Amino acid sequence: MYINGAWVDAQSGETFEVTNPANGEVIGHMPAGGAPDAEAAVEAAHQAFKTWSNTTAYQRADLLYRAWQLMTERAGDLAQLMTTEQGKPLRASRNEVNYGADFLRWYAEEAKRVAGEWLPSSRADQRFLVLKQPVGVVAAITPWNYPISMLTRKMGPALAAGCTLVLKAAEATPLCAKAIFEIFHDAGFPPGVVNLVTALDPKPIGEVFTSDPRVAKLTFTGSTAVGSMLAGQAAGNLKRVSVELGGHAPFIVFPDADPVHAAKGAAALKFLNSGQACISPNRLYVHTSGADAFIATLTERVGKVKAGNGMSEGVGVGPLVNEAAVAKVARQVDDARDKGAAIPVGGSRLSDGDFAAGHFYAPTLVTGVTDDMVIYREETFGPVAPVIVYDDVDSVLDQANDTHYGLAAYVYTQNINTAFRAFEGLRFGIVGINDVNPTSASAPFGGMGDSGLGREGGHEGIAEYLEVKLGGFSI
Ligand code: ADP
Repeated sequence: MYINGAWVDAQSGETFEVTNPANGEVIGHMPAGGAPDAEAAVEAAHQAFKTWSNTTAYQRADLLYRAWQLMTERAGDLAQLMTTEQGKPLRASRNEVNYGADFLRWYAEEAKRVAGEWLPSSRADQRFLVLKQPVGVVAAITPWNYPISMLTRKMGPALAAGCTLVLKAAEATPLCAKAIFEIFHDAGFPPGVVNLVTALDPKPIGEVFTSDPRVAKLTFTGSTAVGSMLAGQAAGNLKRVSVELGGHAPFIVFPDADPVHAAKGAAALKFLNSGQACISPNRLYVHTSGADAFIATLTERVGKVKAGNGMSEGVGVGPLVNEAAVAKVARQVDDARDKGAAIPVGGSRLSDGDFAAGHFYAPTLVTGVTDDMVIYREETFGPVAPVIVYDDVDSVLDQANDTHYGLAAYVYTQNINTAFRAFEGLRFGIVGINDVNPTSASAPFGGMGDSGLGREGGHEGIAEYLEVKLGGFSI
């Protein structure tokens, strides 16, 4: 773990194994930290805040730029590590490293754009000054599915704002976190400004993060169940909270769209990270007029997606994170099959030969999905594309909105009015219009409803780490 500028073991001396999900090989050991380690990290961040919060934005920007440079230089090694630890194909790992690095560069720039306001008063002898200040010590909890970019998406804006932080990495991907903290160390961030805690049991760490009075803010990315529990704990202690949680994205193909083009987009998007993304489409609604062409193209595309070890050339879908993830996907697909869905491609675990020691599920297409199926409501987090054919254009937005989640939605249409109606009418934080990659360091990412609170990226992303202070001046 990295606490107060030094690499340390857990105070208990315990460690845990890190494995490769493609073949079960042990690839490292990390400290199994507990509450005392989290408290030590919080204390380090608390002490460092006094000086870090008084650095200039230019000083913070220089360090963030340096970290960005190092990350860019080490991109090849980081991608290899990510594929080995998390499983995604090497090319996808490279993309994630670039995306992750961009948060450091973008917030190095944004650090210098944090401005206040000078406001007039109705009293002639009064002026108002609005000042933005860093909230204080940030506690961050990150997931395994994007084991680098989910760290920098929090660290970039928090550090740019002048906050210090303690981060607990996911138990499946602590090696990627370690590699990122090595970069921050080498970039020259002062001791205590960034701290990394690793743990096999996250619960005691979460309790420290949500109850310690020295922590000002909790930022979490992960499941809705854990996020809402932690947000509740943190709210009880009046901490600021941002949580980026699950999703159940609709993907709507309107009658005027090209169904073949839409199917290509759906196939590219659905199998990113083996479907283990909170913005992965979980309900593909295609109008009857384009259904045959859409399903034919998707059948062909999904049939060509090769599963395997992400290190191998040509692999489009890597392993899932663990056996529980495979079991969840299998349960959803079996339920759909039992309730009458057709499965033209895939529909089973992959467990023979090279797949035996890993956690694989076949790239799968499910058609004839209905709203009584588990897959229609529950997040899948696996390589399964569920298709629903619809007839009534007027009610498809209502169908798409029929979920407690509200993170991402996708729309294919060539009609500008339909595009605007969909953009305004969908109750989701992110809407891709003929676009399957509506994410960037410069843009606010986040959800409504059960998908979370707050935004990451863009101007909104740094606001989450700033307090607003009002000064009233009598002159
Ligand atoms: P997933 O189902 O995607 O693994 P989780 O919400 O379980 O999502 O995990 C996301 C992050 O939350 C991980 O870093 C994990 O260690 C952490 N986490 C899980 N349970 C708790 C908890 N009770 N307290 C604090 N952190 C937790």
